[in-house]
Amino acid sequence: MNSRVYNFSAGPSMLPEPVLSRAASEMLNYQGSGQSVMEMSHRSKVFDGIIVRCEELLRKVLGIPSNYKVLFLQGGASSQFAMIPLNLMNGSGKADYILTGQWATKAQKEAARYGDARVVASSKDKTFTYIPKTTAADFDPEADYAYICMNNTIYGTKYAELPDTGKVPLVADVSSCILSEPLDVSKFGLVFAGAQKNMGPAGLTVVIVREDLIGHARDITPTMFNYQTHADNRSLFNTPPCYAIYICMLVLEWLEELGGLEEMAKINRKKAGILYDFLDNSKLFRGTVEKEYRSLMNVPFVTGSDELDKKAVKEAEAEGFINIKGHRTVGGLRASIYNAMPLEGVEKLVDFLGRFEKANS
Ligand code: PMP
Repeated sequence: MNSRVYNFSAGPSMLPEPVLSRAASEMLNYQGSGQSVMEMSHRSKVFDGIIVRCEELLRKVLGIPSNYKVLFLQGGASSQFAMIPLNLMNGSGKADYILTGQWATKAQKEAARYGDARVVASSKDKTFTYIPKTTAADFDPEADYAYICMNNTIYGTKYAELPDTGKVPLVADVSSCILSEPLDVSKFGLVFAGAQKNMGPAGLTVVIVREDLIGHARDITPTMFNYQTHADNRSLFNTPPCYAIYICMLVLEWLEELGGLEEMAKINRKKAGILYDFLDNSKLFRGTVEKEYRSLMNVPFVTGSDELDKKAVKEAEAEGFINIKGHRTVGGLRASIYNAMPLEGVEKLVDFLGRFEKANS
């Protein structure tokens, strides 16, 4: 295959082409250093410039308040499922979880190893096709934190409105929606994201945490799992994922040049709108999520026939639309249309789906 494919993977996923071209042009000699970013010491001045700029850009693009720390970590978003309770479940030993899919469920199970991780609400009864409604009264005012997964990668739902948790700090997994639209960080105690969808390559996990929540980890917390370790050392306690941080910096430069998150959100709404409009008008395909909770990033849909779903996936792949098979628990198809998916990719996919519908009905 000579041309690039449209990759609808849930992650790792597409990166903006200008970012890849820039990385390629700087591969052998990063800005006159005579070396690749992959080869340089994480203690060097030149890498320090990269990590400092990456944090500055992230703060600027997301509008992160000054009383929040930005941590560049490893271990994937999944490590946060343990790091969060180890660092935050330190008062009453209780935390409230809302189950909106597999990732939230995994997080709750992990937290239950360390304390009382209570399930406040769940949408499991309808295969996680909606976000359960809650009020402040549902939350335990003594809980050390309340936990949500803001965008559910597998099921294609997203919180349209944040739950009111009263004074209890809200913790959110934003792995599959960070940088897709503006996010008011001040509403959260902590947000975290695996980078491999909207920020850069796999291997980097970004944690944004309010300063007062750092420094109270349980005694048993491994040094590397203590937020304080990384906050005190500007994420340079040990070797950070240097190349992933560099690519994240380039992604943030690309985003800033594009006009920031307001502009990104406009583009994302347009892309998702094209696909949802098609699904709403199709006689063959239908989206699986209740409309008010639809994700801008992950769009699951089905024909109603396993056989036709499989045929559509196969024919889509042959036309260069790859990784469009739905998660095994939902079936059907899923188009993940993160920031780097061009508008043209969605238009061409809809064109394909329209042709498929005609040929198969
Ligand atoms: N949370 C969400 C919302 C995800 O989509 C994923 C991965 N797809 C994870 C957590 C787990 O991420 P990781 O593989 O980086 O541990």
